[in-house]
Amino acid sequence: GAGVAGLQAIATARRLGAIVSAFDVRAAVKEQVESLGAKFLAMEEQVQAEGAGGYAKELSEDQHRRELEFLARSVRDADVVITTAAIPGKRAPILVTRAAVEGMRPGSVIVDLAAETGGNCELTQAGKTVEHNGVTILGPVNLPATLPLHASQMYARNVWSFLTHIVKEGALLLAFTAQLTKATCVTHDGEVLKP
Ligand code: NAD
Repeated sequence: GAGVAGLQAIATARRLGAIVSAFDVRAAVKEQVESLGAKFLAMEEQVQAEGAGGYAKELSEDQHRRELEFLARSVRDADVVITTAAIPGKRAPILVTRAAVEGMRPGSVIVDLAAETGGNCELTQAGKTVEHNGVTILGPVNLPATLPLHASQMYARNVWSFLTHIVKEGALLLAFTAQLTKATCVTHDGEVLKP
């Protein structure tokens, strides 16, 4: 899953000198992965699962089965696997099965950044580090709290961007045709806009 978190992981791993490959189910990601100097792992028959708002949607059962087989082959030779796949409002998809972990070399490490929403690895335990056949699986939770300065800076930047969107020349300007305004306003003008 090479979305916002995955692309950052790729960039960091590349800066540290790693040879990186990545996979995602959204078409736009291939180019983004390659622009960071990583290899995009292409399935023989690529699955496409772009949903609303640029996010991914759930794969069909058959697509998911093919994805699992493909990823099991891909993670076999990796020293480190970082998983960050998510689908808004759903449990994180399982991408690395027990069998795939058992195919990895002892000493390899899986960092499951989706631990909080169920984990991308079948053996992940949220908030714990577990070992299986010599493979270490990390399931960190509440990661922003471990880097409070940068988390606060990012949050402040988000709030700032939002305010510049609804405040023009010092005055509040609520255009309900704008998706951001519509999606975030709870109540306006005596009316509750959200159920
Ligand atoms: P996310 O955290 O919901 O998902 C992470 C990644 O997992 C995504 O790239 C998704 O395609 C991938 N994924 C889902 N199911 C998968 C599967 N079965 N196999 C492999 N990969 C799978 O998404 P995100 O990283 O926040 O962002 C995804 C897109 O939405 C990006 O284009 C981003 O720019 C856009 N977006 C994000 C935000 C934000 O605040 N995070 C806001 C607006 C738009």
